[in-house]
Amino acid sequence: MDLMDFTDLDLTDVVARALAGVELERRKAQAILNCPDDRLPDLLAATFRVRAAAFGRRVKICVLRNAQSGICPEDCGYCSQSRVSRAEIPVYKMQTVDELCDGARQAVASGARRYCMVASMRGPGDREIAHLADACERIRARYPALELCLSVGLLSAAQARRLKEAGAGWINHNLNTSRRFYPEICTTHTWDDRVRTIENVRAAGLSVCSGGIIGMGESDDDIVDLAYATRRLRADSVPVNFLHPIAGTPLEHASALTPERCLKAACLFRLLNPRSEVRAAGGRELNLGARQGEIFNAVNSVFVNGYLTTAGWAYDRTRELIERAGFEVEPQSAA
Ligand code: SF4
Repeated sequence: MDLMDFTDLDLTDVVARALAGVELERRKAQAILNCPDDRLPDLLAATFRVRAAAFGRRVKICVLRNAQSGICPEDCGYCSQSRVSRAEIPVYKMQTVDELCDGARQAVASGARRYCMVASMRGPGDREIAHLADACERIRARYPALELCLSVGLLSAAQARRLKEAGAGWINHNLNTSRRFYPEICTTHTWDDRVRTIENVRAAGLSVCSGGIIGMGESDDDIVDLAYATRRLRADSVPVNFLHPIAGTPLEHASALTPERCLKAACLFRLLNPRSEVRAAGGRELNLGARQGEIFNAVNSVFVNGYLTTAGWAYDRTRELIERAGFEVEPQSAA
C-alpha cells in the first residue's frame, strides 16, 4: 500500500470522521503514527477535540492490585511474572478475600474510580473463580460506586458470567500486539485464544478492557493492526502500555521508546476508539518523562501507585501532573 505523508492529511477531516464514527483509513492511521515530531502539537490538538467530545477534560484514576504474583506458567516475553523470567519480584499465591477487600479500601483512599485485581495465571480454575467472586461481592457491597475490574487470564463464558453475577463490571484481557507479531512474544497461548476470552467477556454482559504494549520490537504495521483490532472488538477500555524493559525478562534489552513515539501511538488509539476509555498504562512515567502531561490530549485515564511489579507515581503527584496539563481528576462520586 502507498504510504501517505502526514502533511497530506487533513486533520480537520480526520477529527470530523472520528466524531461521526467513521473508521479511519489505514494509510491515514500509518501517517498518524509517522507524524513528524515538529507536527506533533497539531496532531495532539486534533486528537484532543475527539477526546474532549466524549470525556471533556476529565481524567479517571485507576489502581491495580497484584492479587497473585510471579508463578505464571505462560511465557509472555515482556512479563516479569512469566515462567521464563528471572526478574527478582515478589512471589505469592492468591491473596485472601480480606486482602483483596483491603486493596479496594486502599484504592478508594488513593483517589481511584476503578480498582483492578490482577492475577498472574493462564486462567482461573473453579476454586479461583469462587474466591474472586467472593471478593467481588464483598467489594461491591462495601464500595458500590467503585468500578471493579479483573485481569485473570483466559476465561470461559461460564466463568465470565459468574464474575458478572458477583458484581465485576470490567474484565481486562489485553491483545498486547498484532496477531502476526504475537508468536514473537508468547508461545504458550495464541492471539486467537485472547480474542475468544474477549468474546466470552462481552457475551457475559461485562465491559471489555483490552489494549496492548508498544515497544516490544513490533513494526508500525503491528501497532496499526492492534489499534484496529481494539476498535473492531469494540473494546470499552483500551490500555496503552509503553514497554518498561525489566531485567531478567526476554525483552530486557528492547530498544527504548521516545516520548514522541508514545504520544503518536496514543493519538492513533484515541482516533480509532473515539468513545472508548483510553488509558496511559504501564511505562508512562519511564517512557514519556517530561512529556507525560501531553498524553492527556489523547487518553482519559491513568494508573497511580505503580503497575504490578514496577513502580509508578502516587495520586498526589499524578493529580498535580494532570492539573498542570490543564485537565482535572474525575471525581470519585460515592466510591
Ligand atoms: S499470562 Fe499474564 S502473568 Fe502470565 S506471563 Fe503472560 S502477562 Fe505475565
